[in-house]
Amino acid sequence: MSKQDYYDLLEITKGADGDEIKKSYRKLAMQYHPDRNPDDKAAEQKFKDISEAYEILKDDQKRSAYDQFGHAAFEQGGPGGMGGGFGGPGGPGGPGFAGGGFADIFEEMFGGGFAQRGGPQQQQSGRGSDLRFNMTITLEDAFGGKNSEVRVPTSVECDTCHGSGAKPGTEPVACATCGGHGVVRSQQGFFTVERTCPSCHGQGKVIKETCSNCSGQGRVAKEKTLNVNIPAGVEEGTRIRLSGEGEAGLRGAPAGDLYIFIAIQPHRMFHRHGADIHMRVPVPMTTAALGGHIEVPTVDGARARINIPAGTQPGQQFRLKSKGMSVLRAKSRGDMFVELQVETPVNLTKKQKEHLESLQAAGVEDKKHSPESGGFFSKVKDLWEDLKE
Ligand SMILES: [Zn+2]
Ligand SMILES: [Zn+2]
Repeated sequence: MSKQDYYDLLEITKGADGDEIKKSYRKLAMQYHPDRNPDDKAAEQKFKDISEAYEILKDDQKRSAYDQFGHAAFEQGGPGGMGGGFGGPGGPGGPGFAGGGFADIFEEMFGGGFAQRGGPQQQQSGRGSDLRFNMTITLEDAFGGKNSEVRVPTSVECDTCHGSGAKPGTEPVACATCGGHGVVRSQQGFFTVERTCPSCHGQGKVIKETCSNCSGQGRVAKEKTLNVNIPAGVEEGTRIRLSGEGEAGLRGAPAGDLYIFIAIQPHRMFHRHGADIHMRVPVPMTTAALGGHIEVPTVDGARARINIPAGTQPGQQFRLKSKGMSVLRAKSRGDMFVELQVETPVNLTKKQKEHLESLQAAGVEDKKHSPESGGFFSKVKDLWEDLKE
């Protein structure tokens, strides 16, 4: 069965703004909330679907990915160039689903008492947090890729109890309050309310004797050193997901993910436009007039030679094919565009000035030799003549 359009699910138009999305979601969520529709599978599914839609559409970045690629944007191995893709923290159906914007809105609605629901998400209880690590790299590193070591303050599984939280030699026992189910049910008016067990917090197990190393948490704070492979061609804002490298879970629950957010330092010469590199190079007036060649640096650390034809004008652009940035997960490279800035000489000596004056006297400023300026001033003259009549 194909998935329903997120906008249709939330009964909004494509142009809806954040407030409209939130308002419509709230209304529908209240209507289909499982507490109000006990044992109604259809309502439960609808509730899940609208929550998933809201999760995507409330996030500008995810929303634009959805607008562009549809549901495919969030499938495993989604569109290339997204640097690890979406489906990360709070992604639809993924780990952390119950803990993201889903919970925050319900805290507002139900006064903070929103409990994580039973079912498959129960097992996610205690999952470690996703972590974000901001990394700034140079344009050269973005071009060539880089293997980088990062040190992340996080928590890791406790060595002493191997994450169980129980004192070595002892085992956690089934929780007496919930009989090991992790949830308790109670009757409130017409509703049967299922809540996370307050004794074991949904774990289904309690620890009689806690591990002294981690105080029963199953994890300890530690700085973790990780090797991150930054692929060639990354762009500003690329996210790299290191699955399971986030914070360790509570008492053996799954770890969160680590997201590396890439920022790229501005370069003093090269300006990146997607896969292309733009650069402005000043050349002396004489080189532009007589022709010659210049050498320019390229992002790969080499040099490229550009032949300047005689009579080259300021602003003229030269294209160096495949001398631009590398493209993420592709063998190709963008181009490099070199724009010439013709420089007018300054601080002339008497002799240099005389040379230029003799050029002037020899007629280089005529329309024939300076078609733009010569032509321009004759046009201006015509204009004045016309105005006189
Ligand atoms: Zn421990
Ligand atoms: Zn319990």
